[in-house]
Amino acid sequence: MAERRPPVDMLGRPLKSLRVSVTDRCNLRCSYCMPEEEYVWLPREDLLTFEEIRELVSVFTGLGVDKVRLTGGEPLLRRDLATLVGMLARTPGVADLALTTNGILLAEQVGALRDAGLHRVTVSLDTLRPDRFRTLTRRDAHGRVLEGIEAVRRAGFEGLKLDSVIMRGTNEDELVDLVEFGKGVAAEVRFIEYMDVGGATLWSADKVVSRAEMLETLTRRYGPIQPVVEVSSAPAERFRLPDGTVIGIIASTTTPFCRTCDRSRLTADGLWLLCLYAQSGTDLRRLLRGGASRDELTTAITGGWTARRDRGAEERKELGIRGPLLQIEGLRRDPHLEMHTRGG
Ligand code: SAM
Repeated sequence: MAERRPPVDMLGRPLKSLRVSVTDRCNLRCSYCMPEEEYVWLPREDLLTFEEIRELVSVFTGLGVDKVRLTGGEPLLRRDLATLVGMLARTPGVADLALTTNGILLAEQVGALRDAGLHRVTVSLDTLRPDRFRTLTRRDAHGRVLEGIEAVRRAGFEGLKLDSVIMRGTNEDELVDLVEFGKGVAAEVRFIEYMDVGGATLWSADKVVSRAEMLETLTRRYGPIQPVVEVSSAPAERFRLPDGTVIGIIASTTTPFCRTCDRSRLTADGLWLLCLYAQSGTDLRRLLRGGASRDELTTAITGGWTARRDRGAEERKELGIRGPLLQIEGLRRDPHLEMHTRGG
């Protein structure tokens, strides 16, 4: 079959990658993502069924999307996720099927996920210290996350990634420990700058540990660090330590990468978003449940993408002085603005 040419947006970026949030629920309450006591959840009847997700994913792959990542909320809270994984793994055009998880439920599900055809796993791990984990996430589950990471290895997955949001005053002293831990479990560690996305109502510029600072700390410990030269639309810039270890840095706050962003996001209730910072999106659930044909869905998605001009992280950076993107009242009025609804 001839390779598909995906639609290209107004800044010349192809539509190649889709993040599918399968639930807005989470079993952690990380201070950088879900710091509030109470949340407004998506109505259950609005959540896309597995068949609806498959239908939409297949429209996207028909347009040339070849990377699909399942996220949330915490995706492993969605009942029978392995069934969805199996359906997507068999969907023509899905070349890379990945999962981002906090790892708490991984040990019990990883075998089924692997059997169902999941290709890759990314686990969020911000600290190696159980007490810090408890303070940061307001849940006591550090041991289960570590068990989950171990289980990914045992299940035979390759390409395990560990994502750590680094915040000043919280875990910036763990960069080296996390790199060493990653070596021990054959994982690529990726450090994420604290972002002022929806949901991050406690965000402030002084808590951001910049890519430059992270590189400085790592250079002090390991010696000269070389950028890995590669053509990639992946969010992480990769670097090689003198011993050959490769790490990533996702520097959306200080060094945004909007110019190569080929990602869009589907919320669990079918809102299609063109940017992590987008204030609105296209309601694909309404189209789907209203009986739209495959051609009509294809037209809606192509039209949305070709009109795309979003460069949210760059625009945030251009502001200069900035605070949280949104306040709690706005997030309560529209939970689609929350990071845990749109998927990280
Ligand atoms: N529950 C899953 C997990 O923990 O990986 C998937 C959803 S979570 C929203 C996806 C990613 O977004 C996680 O790696 C999380 O650390 C990241 N994230 C959430 N809020 C963030 C923020 N304010 N700045 C940077 N990364 C953030």
